[in-house]
Amino acid sequence: MLVNGVKLLQVARENHFAVPAFNISDHAMLKGIFEICEDTESPLIVAIHPDEVSHVGADFLASVLSRARRTTIPVAVHWDHGATYEEALRAIQLGFTSVMIDASLKPFDDNVEISKRVADAAHAVDVSVEAELGTIGKTDAEAEAGTDSIIYTDPHDAVRFVEQTGVDSLAVAIGTCHGLYPDWMKPEIKLDLLEEIEAAVSIPLVLHGGSGNPDEEIAKSVAHGIAKINISSDIKVAYHDKMREVLADTKLREPNSIQPPCIAAMKATAAHKIELFNASGKAALY
Ligand SMILES: [Zn+2]
Repeated sequence: MLVNGVKLLQVARENHFAVPAFNISDHAMLKGIFEICEDTESPLIVAIHPDEVSHVGADFLASVLSRARRTTIPVAVHWDHGATYEEALRAIQLGFTSVMIDASLKPFDDNVEISKRVADAAHAVDVSVEAELGTIGKTDAEAEAGTDSIIYTDPHDAVRFVEQTGVDSLAVAIGTCHGLYPDWMKPEIKLDLLEEIEAAVSIPLVLHGGSGNPDEEIAKSVAHGIAKINISSDIKVAYHDKMREVLADTKLREPNSIQPPCIAAMKATAAHKIELFNASGKAALY
């Protein structure tokens, strides 16, 4: 069933699990994430970044929405890292049930103004809104957004931000980065900061850049208010590493010979995340 984001995330926060938000931008990957979430009975957020929409074309959305409507698990279709009010309107028109407005690089008051404007428009048509306060890092040019160094979310600002904007969920910067971490970098989630934000803010919290942080830290963050975790790099690496291996056989040319083992490798990584997020079996709560 197709639902909006707030419905998915409130249940997750109350029951101490996180809904996996898998970023995908091709049909084989879409098939894979639906299958693994159905197999594990996990709720699902299909996250598509504007750059990914440009890649697959807007018509791809009809396919995503049709698949979401006929599945037994609850699914939200989420516009990841929208930059402007106009972009959010386009996402709503395309049928996304959840949109992110990321004005986190702007000054606080500007971030409030644009996030509130998006929330007011989206709520009028029952679409939920995620905003971001603080800025998570970015490790390489392939990463979707972020700055070279992390600006941690201030818990007092978070309270004001949520009150003034009316958004449904909040992405926080607590020590993660978009992209893959280089060998020299030791990522660390500040759990004490997360606990402060959790105590101060009642809406579901979102973790971006969760690929590559130690499993133990991710599991603890789920126990402290994180209700959605975005996973992009990890599943794409699994998919394409397997594809490089498969394509070593230069006689192969049919997608249905090449892609199935890649989908299987991606599903194995996704299954591990679902377990880590405590999301397995949670579709039954909806
Ligand atoms: Zn992100």
